[in-house]
Amino acid sequence: MLFDISPAVTENLTDKGFPAKERQVSVLRLDKIHPVVSGNKLFKLHYFLLEAQQSQHKTILTFGGAYSNHLAATAHACSLAGLTCIGMVRGEEPASLSHTLRQCRGEGMRLRFLSREEYDRKEEPVFLEALRREYGDCTIIPEGGYHPLGAKGAAGIHQCIHDDYTHICTAMGTATTAAGLLLGASPLQKILVVPVLKGMHDFNERIRYLTGNATPSAGLEWIDGYHFGGYAKKNDELLRFMNQAWEQYQLPLDFVYSAKLFYAVTDLVQQNYFPAGSRILCVHTGGLQGNESLPPNTLTY
Ligand SMILES: *Cc1c(COP(=O)(O)O)cnc(C)c1O
Repeated sequence: MLFDISPAVTENLTDKGFPAKERQVSVLRLDKIHPVVSGNKLFKLHYFLLEAQQSQHKTILTFGGAYSNHLAATAHACSLAGLTCIGMVRGEEPASLSHTLRQCRGEGMRLRFLSREEYDRKEEPVFLEALRREYGDCTIIPEGGYHPLGAKGAAGIHQCIHDDYTHICTAMGTATTAAGLLLGASPLQKILVVPVLKGMHDFNERIRYLTGNATPSAGLEWIDGYHFGGYAKKNDELLRFMNQAWEQYQLPLDFVYSAKLFYAVTDLVQQNYFPAGSRILCVHTGGLQGNESLPPNTLTY
């Protein structure tokens, strides 16, 4: 691992007054590993970084939007690992760069802006070949690390999980982290997945592709209805919830992923979704750098 993962402690929220009603709710603080290379991204990148380090080309090329945690993490990890790094950004170059892209450029990532039409071709072999001709041989990481190697890396999150939980809960973007958690889970554990995008219908296909498994494990549950209108959408209730989580549990959440996960788990506890006696672990996947796109003073932390 490129980073020391020992800061990823587990905190028991029930001890901190979380109203869990005979259920134990804990949080795995992957966000504490590094402020930029947030939690799950480090794990998803692991095998790609190894591959690039062992190659002749020592170059990584990847894809993301202007606020992408994945681009931010890749830029920082590549600068630490001494790798050349190229970021393909969705959309035309804006007059002023987002804080995420400024950080990426500051870490040495070369940015290339693709029109939406070009960006939509990012998985086509012909398109990737053209990029290789242009930039030379390189390790290409699909957007968000969405690839079996990314899932294999995400399975490494289990190195940070030391207790025998009945439920491990995660926010879901590409489902790579969920697939990794599933790969490393014991047969009695349930992986509970909260999509942050609206209208995810291909969840089972994603898990099959990522795990290489023809039948998705029965240990996987997918809870829709907590996306707050879609990716990176938010409302006052979510923002209030975030400030409350900070006040009560000193838990900093990001509005795109971890806040929606914690909101969902809190709500599901209230609805007695989890059987009494459940030991629930929420994975805080990080992403706090994304809060910088909120207007000043939106959050109290
Ligand atoms: C990228 C990201 C996710 C989503 O992970 P997937 O593996 O794409 O499902 C969750 N939380 C945070 C903070 C992220 O940055």
